[in-house]
Amino acid sequence: MKTEQNHQNDPNGRLFLVGTPIGNLGDFSPRAKEILEGVSVIACEDTRTSGNMLRSFGIQTQLTSLHQHNEHRKTPELIARLSQGDSVALISDAGMPAISDPGFLLARAAHLAHITVSAVPGPVAAVTALAASGLPSDRFVFEGFLPPKKGRKTRLEAIAEDERTTLIYESPHRIVRLLTELLEVCDETRLCAVCRELTKIYEEIRRGTLSELKEEFGNRARQRGEFVLVLAGKTYSEEPQE
Ligand code: SAM
Repeated sequence: MKTEQNHQNDPNGRLFLVGTPIGNLGDFSPRAKEILEGVSVIACEDTRTSGNMLRSFGIQTQLTSLHQHNEHRKTPELIARLSQGDSVALISDAGMPAISDPGFLLARAAHLAHITVSAVPGPVAAVTALAASGLPSDRFVFEGFLPPKKGRKTRLEAIAEDERTTLIYESPHRIVRLLTELLEVCDETRLCAVCRELTKIYEEIRRGTLSELKEEFGNRARQRGEFVLVLAGKTYSEEPQE
Protein backbone atom coordinates (compact mmCIF):
# COMPACT_ATOMS: atom_id res chain seq x y z
CA MET A 1 0.00 0.00 0.00
CA LYS A 2 2.68 2.48 0.94
CA THR A 3 4.09 2.07 -2.57
CA GLU A 4 0.90 3.81 -3.82
CA GLN A 5 1.43 6.74 -1.47
CA ASN A 6 4.97 7.74 -2.48
CA HIS A 7 7.11 7.13 -5.51
CA GLN A 8 10.47 5.65 -4.65
CA ASN A 9 13.16 8.34 -4.34
CA ASP A 10 10.53 11.07 -4.53
CA PRO A 11 10.86 13.42 -1.54
CA ASN A 12 7.47 14.95 -2.35
CA GLY A 13 4.16 13.53 -1.26
CA ARG A 14 1.59 12.66 -3.82
CA LEU A 15 -1.75 14.32 -4.58
CA PHE A 16 -4.74 12.02 -5.04
CA LEU A 17 -8.03 13.24 -6.53
CA VAL A 18 -10.45 10.67 -5.17
CA GLY A 19 -13.96 10.05 -6.48
CA THR A 20 -16.73 9.43 -3.94
CA PRO A 21 -20.36 8.31 -4.47
CA ILE A 22 -23.00 10.58 -6.05
CA GLY A 23 -25.65 9.18 -3.73
CA ASN A 24 -25.24 5.44 -3.34
CA LEU A 25 -22.57 4.57 -0.78
CA GLY A 26 -22.19 1.17 -2.45
CA ASP A 27 -20.26 2.98 -5.19
CA PHE A 28 -17.38 3.85 -2.84
CA SER A 29 -14.43 1.85 -4.14
CA PRO A 30 -12.06 -0.29 -2.06
CA ARG A 31 -9.14 1.62 -3.59
CA ALA A 32 -10.66 4.96 -2.57
CA LYS A 33 -10.88 3.66 1.01
CA GLU A 34 -7.30 2.42 0.96
CA ILE A 35 -5.93 5.72 -0.35
CA LEU A 36 -8.02 7.87 2.00
CA GLU A 37 -6.87 5.82 4.99
CA GLY A 38 -3.22 6.14 3.96
CA VAL A 39 -2.79 9.86 3.23
CA SER A 40 -1.72 12.46 5.82
CA VAL A 41 -4.70 14.71 5.22
CA ILE A 42 -7.93 14.75 3.23
CA ALA A 43 -9.02 18.09 1.78
CA CYS A 44 -12.80 18.25 1.37
CA GLU A 45 -15.47 20.86 0.65
CA ASP A 46 -17.35 20.43 3.90
CA THR A 47 -15.64 18.67 6.80
CA ARG A 48 -18.97 17.80 8.41
CA THR A 49 -20.53 16.23 5.28
CA SER A 50 -17.38 14.32 4.32
CA GLY A 51 -16.61 13.47 7.96
CA ASN A 52 -19.94 11.63 8.25
CA MET A 53 -19.38 9.76 4.99
CA LEU A 54 -15.79 8.82 5.86
CA ARG A 55 -16.71 7.70 9.37
CA SER A 56 -19.30 5.33 7.90
CA PHE A 57 -16.36 3.59 6.19
CA GLY A 58 -14.22 3.69 9.34
CA ILE A 59 -11.82 6.29 7.87
CA GLN A 60 -10.35 8.56 10.55
CA THR A 61 -7.78 10.55 8.56
CA GLN A 62 -7.43 14.25 9.45
CA LEU A 63 -9.67 16.56 7.37
CA THR A 64 -9.12 20.10 6.16
CA SER A 65 -11.57 22.25 4.22
CA LEU A 66 -11.01 23.29 0.62
CA HIS A 67 -13.98 24.87 -1.11
CA GLN A 68 -14.63 27.43 -3.82
CA HIS A 69 -14.31 30.36 -1.36
CA ASN A 70 -10.92 29.41 0.12
CA GLU A 71 -9.22 27.34 -2.57
CA HIS A 72 -6.91 30.19 -3.67
CA ARG A 73 -5.60 30.53 -0.08
CA LYS A 74 -5.59 26.80 0.73
CA THR A 75 -3.84 25.62 -2.44
CA PRO A 76 -0.34 26.97 -1.53
CA GLU A 77 -0.73 25.54 2.00
CA LEU A 78 -1.44 22.07 0.63
CA ILE A 79 1.37 22.35 -1.93
CA ALA A 80 3.74 23.19 0.94
CA ARG A 81 2.65 20.03 2.80
CA LEU A 82 3.06 17.94 -0.37
CA SER A 83 6.56 19.41 -0.87
CA GLN A 84 7.46 18.39 2.67
CA GLY A 85 6.57 14.77 1.87
CA ASP A 86 2.95 14.52 3.06
CA SER A 87 0.48 12.81 0.78
CA VAL A 88 -2.80 14.64 0.33
CA ALA A 89 -6.18 13.47 -1.00
CA LEU A 90 -8.85 15.78 -2.36
CA ILE A 91 -12.48 14.73 -2.34
CA SER A 92 -15.67 16.69 -3.01
CA ASP A 93 -19.10 16.42 -1.42
CA ALA A 94 -20.05 13.96 -4.18
CA GLY A 95 -18.56 12.53 -7.34
CA MET A 96 -15.21 13.43 -8.83
CA PRO A 97 -13.28 16.44 -7.58
CA ALA A 98 -12.57 19.01 -10.33
CA ILE A 99 -15.85 18.22 -12.11
CA SER A 100 -18.05 21.25 -11.31
CA ASP A 101 -16.24 21.13 -7.95
CA PRO A 102 -12.87 22.35 -6.63
CA GLY A 103 -9.84 20.45 -7.89
CA PHE A 104 -8.50 22.12 -11.01
CA LEU A 105 -6.48 24.77 -9.12
CA LEU A 106 -4.88 22.25 -6.77
CA ALA A 107 -4.09 19.71 -9.51
CA ARG A 108 -2.55 22.44 -11.67
CA ALA A 109 -0.48 23.82 -8.80
CA ALA A 110 0.76 20.31 -7.95
CA HIS A 111 1.87 19.66 -11.53
CA LEU A 112 3.64 23.03 -11.65
CA ALA A 113 5.45 22.12 -8.38
CA HIS A 114 6.52 18.75 -9.90
CA ILE A 115 4.35 16.83 -7.47
CA THR A 116 2.92 13.55 -8.71
CA VAL A 117 -0.84 13.68 -9.25
CA SER A 118 -3.04 10.58 -9.34
CA ALA A 119 -6.77 10.20 -9.79
CA VAL A 120 -8.76 7.49 -8.07
CA PRO A 121 -11.82 7.40 -10.32
CA GLY A 122 -15.35 7.26 -9.03
CA PRO A 123 -18.82 8.15 -10.33
CA VAL A 124 -19.44 11.37 -12.25
CA ALA A 125 -23.10 12.38 -12.49
CA ALA A 126 -22.76 13.63 -16.08
CA VAL A 127 -21.18 10.45 -17.45
CA THR A 128 -23.56 8.27 -15.45
CA ALA A 129 -26.49 10.18 -17.00
CA LEU A 130 -25.02 9.93 -20.50
CA ALA A 131 -24.61 6.14 -20.23
CA ALA A 132 -28.18 5.71 -18.96
CA SER A 133 -29.77 8.15 -21.44
CA GLY A 134 -29.60 5.96 -24.53
CA LEU A 135 -28.50 9.06 -26.46
CA PRO A 136 -25.37 9.04 -28.63
CA SER A 137 -22.27 8.74 -26.45
CA ASP A 138 -19.57 8.57 -29.13
CA ARG A 139 -19.03 12.36 -28.98
CA PHE A 140 -20.28 14.53 -26.16
CA VAL A 141 -19.65 17.87 -24.52
CA PHE A 142 -19.83 18.64 -20.80
CA GLU A 143 -21.27 22.09 -20.06
CA GLY A 144 -21.50 21.75 -16.27
CA PHE A 145 -23.69 24.51 -14.78
CA LEU A 146 -24.63 27.22 -17.28
CA PRO A 147 -24.06 30.79 -16.03
CA PRO A 148 -27.27 31.93 -14.28
CA LYS A 149 -27.46 35.28 -16.07
CA LYS A 150 -24.59 36.87 -18.03
CA GLY A 151 -23.55 34.77 -21.01
CA ARG A 152 -26.32 32.21 -20.51
CA LYS A 153 -28.15 32.98 -23.78
CA THR A 154 -24.94 32.75 -25.83
CA ARG A 155 -24.13 29.38 -24.29
CA LEU A 156 -27.67 28.09 -24.94
CA GLU A 157 -27.45 29.20 -28.58
CA ALA A 158 -24.12 27.41 -29.03
CA ILE A 159 -25.53 24.24 -27.40
CA ALA A 160 -28.49 24.35 -29.79
CA GLU A 161 -26.12 24.26 -32.79
CA ASP A 162 -23.85 21.49 -31.45
CA GLU A 163 -23.88 18.14 -33.26
CA ARG A 164 -22.62 16.37 -30.13
CA THR A 165 -24.66 15.24 -27.14
CA THR A 166 -24.51 17.92 -24.43
CA LEU A 167 -24.49 17.26 -20.66
CA ILE A 168 -25.78 20.03 -18.39
CA TYR A 169 -25.98 20.22 -14.57
CA GLU A 170 -28.99 22.09 -13.25
CA SER A 171 -30.55 22.79 -9.87
CA PRO A 172 -34.09 21.55 -9.12
CA HIS A 173 -35.58 25.03 -9.03
CA ARG A 174 -34.21 25.87 -12.49
CA ILE A 175 -34.71 22.61 -14.42
CA VAL A 176 -38.06 23.64 -15.97
CA ARG A 177 -36.64 27.07 -16.82
CA LEU A 178 -33.73 25.30 -18.58
CA LEU A 179 -36.10 23.12 -20.62
CA THR A 180 -38.11 26.24 -21.53
CA GLU A 181 -34.98 28.14 -22.59
CA LEU A 182 -33.78 25.20 -24.69
CA LEU A 183 -37.16 25.11 -26.43
CA GLU A 184 -36.58 28.74 -27.44
CA VAL A 185 -33.36 27.87 -29.30
CA CYS A 186 -33.87 24.20 -30.36
CA ASP A 187 -36.48 22.36 -32.39
CA GLU A 188 -39.25 21.10 -30.09
CA THR A 189 -38.64 17.53 -31.31
CA ARG A 190 -35.00 17.57 -30.12
CA LEU A 191 -34.44 14.45 -28.01
CA CYS A 192 -33.22 14.69 -24.45
CA ALA A 193 -33.15 12.85 -21.14
CA VAL A 194 -33.74 14.34 -17.71
CA CYS A 195 -31.83 12.23 -15.19
CA ARG A 196 -32.76 12.77 -11.55
CA GLU A 197 -31.34 11.37 -8.32
CA LEU A 198 -28.96 8.99 -10.10
CA THR A 199 -27.91 5.94 -8.06
CA LYS A 200 -30.38 6.91 -5.29
CA ILE A 201 -33.73 5.40 -4.20
CA TYR A 202 -35.82 7.80 -6.30
CA GLU A 203 -33.65 7.58 -9.41
CA GLU A 204 -35.59 8.62 -12.49
CA ILE A 205 -34.51 8.77 -16.14
CA ARG A 206 -37.13 10.36 -18.41
CA ARG A 207 -36.42 10.39 -22.12
CA GLY A 208 -38.39 12.21 -24.81
CA THR A 209 -38.54 15.38 -26.85
CA LEU A 210 -37.82 18.75 -25.29
CA SER A 211 -41.49 19.72 -25.45
CA GLU A 212 -42.64 16.42 -23.88
CA LEU A 213 -40.20 16.71 -20.98
CA LYS A 214 -40.93 20.39 -20.44
CA GLU A 215 -44.61 19.52 -20.14
CA GLU A 216 -43.99 16.55 -17.87
CA PHE A 217 -41.69 18.36 -15.43
CA GLY A 218 -43.62 21.62 -15.73
CA ASN A 219 -46.76 19.82 -14.52
CA ARG A 220 -45.10 18.67 -11.30
CA ALA A 221 -45.92 20.76 -8.25
CA ARG A 222 -42.31 20.74 -7.11
CA GLN A 223 -38.95 19.57 -8.44
CA ARG A 224 -36.88 17.59 -5.98
CA GLY A 225 -33.39 16.16 -6.09
CA GLU A 226 -30.38 16.57 -8.31
CA PHE A 227 -30.59 16.76 -12.10
CA VAL A 228 -28.51 16.17 -15.19
CA LEU A 229 -29.95 17.11 -18.56
CA VAL A 230 -28.68 15.15 -21.56
CA LEU A 231 -29.47 16.84 -24.87
CA ALA A 232 -29.03 15.05 -28.20
CA GLY A 233 -27.00 16.75 -30.94
CA LYS A 234 -28.70 19.04 -33.45
CA THR A 235 -29.18 16.56 -36.30
CA TYR A 236 -29.63 13.35 -34.28
CA SER A 237 -32.89 11.63 -35.15
CA GLU A 238 -34.52 8.30 -34.32
CA GLU A 239 -37.00 8.64 -37.16
CA PRO A 240 -36.55 5.91 -39.79
CA GLN A 241 -34.40 7.39 -42.59
CA GLU A 242 -35.90 7.27 -46.10
N1 SAM B 1 -18.40 16.47 -8.81
C1 SAM B 1 -19.73 16.03 -9.14
C2 SAM B 1 -19.66 14.97 -10.24
O1 SAM B 1 -18.61 14.34 -10.38
O2 SAM B 1 -20.66 14.73 -10.92
C3 SAM B 1 -20.63 17.19 -9.51
C4 SAM B 1 -20.83 18.17 -8.40
S1 SAM B 1 -21.86 19.51 -8.81
C5 SAM B 1 -21.51 20.63 -7.50
C6 SAM B 1 -23.45 18.94 -8.30
C7 SAM B 1 -24.38 18.71 -9.49
O3 SAM B 1 -24.08 17.44 -10.09
C8 SAM B 1 -25.85 18.63 -9.11
O4 SAM B 1 -26.44 19.91 -9.04
C9 SAM B 1 -26.42 17.82 -10.25
O5 SAM B 1 -26.61 18.61 -11.41
C10 SAM B 1 -25.27 16.82 -10.50
N2 SAM B 1 -25.47 15.62 -9.68
C11 SAM B 1 -24.72 15.23 -8.63
N3 SAM B 1 -25.19 14.06 -8.12
C12 SAM B 1 -26.26 13.72 -8.87
C13 SAM B 1 -27.17 12.63 -8.86
N4 SAM B 1 -27.08 11.66 -7.96
N5 SAM B 1 -28.15 12.60 -9.80
C14 SAM B 1 -28.26 13.59 -10.72
N6 SAM B 1 -27.42 14.64 -10.78
C15 SAM B 1 -26.44 14.71 -9.87
